[in-house]
Amino acid sequence: MRDSLVAAAVMPTRPSLQADGVLLDLDGTLYDVDKAIAGAPQTVVQLRRAGIPFRFVTNTSRMSRREVREHLQGLGIETELEELFTTTVGAASWLVGHGIERVALCLPKATREDFGHLTIDEDSPEAVVVGDLGYEWSFGLLNRAFRWLNGGAILVATHRNRYWRTADGITLDAGPFIVALEYATGRQATTVGKPNPEFFQLSAQSMALSPRDVVMVGDDLENDIVGIQNVGGRGILVRTGKFQETDLTDPDIQPDMVVNSIADLPGVLLG
Ligand SMILES: [Mg+2]
Repeated sequence: MRDSLVAAAVMPTRPSLQADGVLLDLDGTLYDVDKAIAGAPQTVVQLRRAGIPFRFVTNTSRMSRREVREHLQGLGIETELEELFTTTVGAASWLVGHGIERVALCLPKATREDFGHLTIDEDSPEAVVVGDLGYEWSFGLLNRAFRWLNGGAILVATHRNRYWRTADGITLDAGPFIVALEYATGRQATTVGKPNPEFFQLSAQSMALSPRDVVMVGDDLENDIVGIQNVGGRGILVRTGKFQETDLTDPDIQPDMVVNSIADLPGVLLG
């Protein structure tokens, strides 16, 4: 008894979590704007070496999956295409899974390649997919989307993020445009990215795991932490990206663990 007390006193317990797989957010977790967060490339290497499967799950709809891979490569983070779960890839598999063939896209042109199994139809689409178009939004395009929806197409949102942080300051994301279309049509969008439970289930399934067996690491309380907890998994909040100290006192959301940054992940998972 005495020995164990002494041992406990001299060896501070290190917080740890057991997980069979890891889901990693990108923006704010692995990189911030155009810089890798310190320790991010090494963390990915360490997970790979330890044989812990992982997927990058991101709500970005600015880039195609291939472009996200190139972006990560430029930051020194090596990935395989199938390790990347972006919302455009998620949207395409959701549409195919729901028997939809003809779509119109309000998304950056490069992401079209992620919809390879679908037909682009700008006359009478069955679904309109809306993501983050940034400065490419115009009244004309928003109005065309409204007319497609009014003609019977369903509204599919890649995600509903309100805003994000770019090099020149906070910037409107896809959410406000989706809400405008919902308001105009009186109908709700289906959101296929985080925190949609299907998005987490599909990404865990791609590692032959259940969401219960994985941890999600991210900087967004709603999309990352609540999202994974809703499907029975655990969420680790990082103090980088959009993290704010007030996140720790949110009465409704409690991360399973808080770490300073992604650099702490190997210590938590691998001991
Ligand atoms: Mg993030």
